[in-house]
Amino acid sequence: MNTPTIERLASVDAFLAQRHGTFIDGNTATRLSSSTHELRNPATAQVLCSVQLVDSIHVDSVVRSAHAAFKSGIWSGLTPSERERILLRFADLVEAHGEELAQLETLNQGKSIHIARAIEVGATVNYMRYMAGWATKIEGQTLDVSIPMPANARFNAYTRREPAGVVAGIVPWNFPLMIALWKVMPALACGCTIVIKPADETPLTVLRVAQLAIDAGVPPGVFNVLLGRGAEAGAALVAHPLVNKVSFTGSTAVGKQVGIAALKNMTRFTLELGGKNPMLILEDADIDKAVAGAIGGGLVNQGQVCAAASRFYVHASRYKDFVEALTSQVSQMTIGAGMNPDAQINPLVSRKHQDSVLKLLSAAKAEGAQFCTGGKAPDLPGYFVEPTVLANLDQGMTAVQEEIFGPVLSVLSYENLDDAVSMVNDNKYGLTASIWTNDLGKAMHLIPQIEAGTVWVNNHVPVDPNLPFGGYKQSGMGREFGRSAIEGFTELKSVCITY
Ligand code: NAD
Repeated sequence: MNTPTIERLASVDAFLAQRHGTFIDGNTATRLSSSTHELRNPATAQVLCSVQLVDSIHVDSVVRSAHAAFKSGIWSGLTPSERERILLRFADLVEAHGEELAQLETLNQGKSIHIARAIEVGATVNYMRYMAGWATKIEGQTLDVSIPMPANARFNAYTRREPAGVVAGIVPWNFPLMIALWKVMPALACGCTIVIKPADETPLTVLRVAQLAIDAGVPPGVFNVLLGRGAEAGAALVAHPLVNKVSFTGSTAVGKQVGIAALKNMTRFTLELGGKNPMLILEDADIDKAVAGAIGGGLVNQGQVCAAASRFYVHASRYKDFVEALTSQVSQMTIGAGMNPDAQINPLVSRKHQDSVLKLLSAAKAEGAQFCTGGKAPDLPGYFVEPTVLANLDQGMTAVQEEIFGPVLSVLSYENLDDAVSMVNDNKYGLTASIWTNDLGKAMHLIPQIEAGTVWVNNHVPVDPNLPFGGYKQSGMGREFGRSAIEGFTELKSVCITY
């Protein structure tokens, strides 16, 4: 039987055939190259194309390009409406090249073509337009002051927001295009210039959109892409004294190193880090909806989502029904390549990450977890892991405490709501959580008790450009999206005029 696959665009093959490397001053800088890195298609483990990586010694020229562009005022000196118009044109170009970008992402990252089209491109274009609009809405305040000296003087005091300067945007491999543009768009709306460092595994779509930004009218040097290893080029970028703001999305372990390195130069930083996100299912919840929410919110992108639901606390009276319904549906999911439109579970990003997920599943087995379905790699050439439901777990087990970042759903039960809240909060992370109930009073009572940056009720995982996003506890520092993003890419200046 032939495996169904979507038709691959000629422009995708043409892009893959190009020479890829660090993008600086509006061009691929072939002179900046230290080593060649092969990218593999996660569905087949075959080489997709190769890219040129730079070493830490080359980082200086990339940052200087962004710094020179910032200081020249070619971007920050435009009127807000000129910046807005160019950014809207950029969004139009990303939309017009949407299918090409979606296919590139699916081939590079492994995700479903449906997710690539709807989220990686579709939701990102919405976010781009929303952030473009902020360029014309950045504002300060006028403030009354009571300064006693000099006698009889009058004052006019106000605040203004000024672009932070050169931004280092460091992004992970799970949503490479979307998360890069979560940083590029507000930074550019504020008048900053930016260097994006994609994850080693997934640099392709951000390289493609950097060229589209030039086509839209973003001046060369404003949006640069640095290709290099995290521990070398990434670390050198964070430590560079001409970087004014670091916006990092990735693991908590690396995020801590990044924060400490940034602090050495007093560089501003925002950290969006890991999660181990709970779904709290109350006694009255609609179990069919909760199961659909668990699959949608837990297995999207194979669970490689910082906000994905991965711990499920179900009232004891509904536990058996929930586990049976979840297991039945998860065990029937079709596994296949992201380019196969019928496949519901796609490969993980890399062999390294597949090994890491399988290792955590071995730990779960050794600790006595019950495997209701899944638990191993299927006999396929790519980096697949079966969707897995774990039950009979204790709160202290690895599968309940650690971020697995894979297609693994851990289900526990509780007797009373106070215990449930304690278990929900008993984790080092605090990114997101969801409550499933038809009892509005109980939901309203629970929301303030949950230690998470986002709490959803009767859904899990939707985000909106206007709704701040970020973590409590070890899930990060600062917020992205909405006004918070604008605050993150600007400095606040107070002005006091005596007259
Ligand atoms: P990672 O921390 O390994 O890498 C993230 C980025 O940091 C990559 O570009 C990497 O090259 C770079 N990097 C590595 N070492 C560095 C260093 N010393 N200095 C500077 N940069 C360095 O994360 P990952 O494996 O790519 O992504 C998965 C993680 O990202 C998960 O923990 C997930 O929860 C998290 N994540 C968080 C959010 C959020 O918004 N909170 C969103 C997506 C992913």
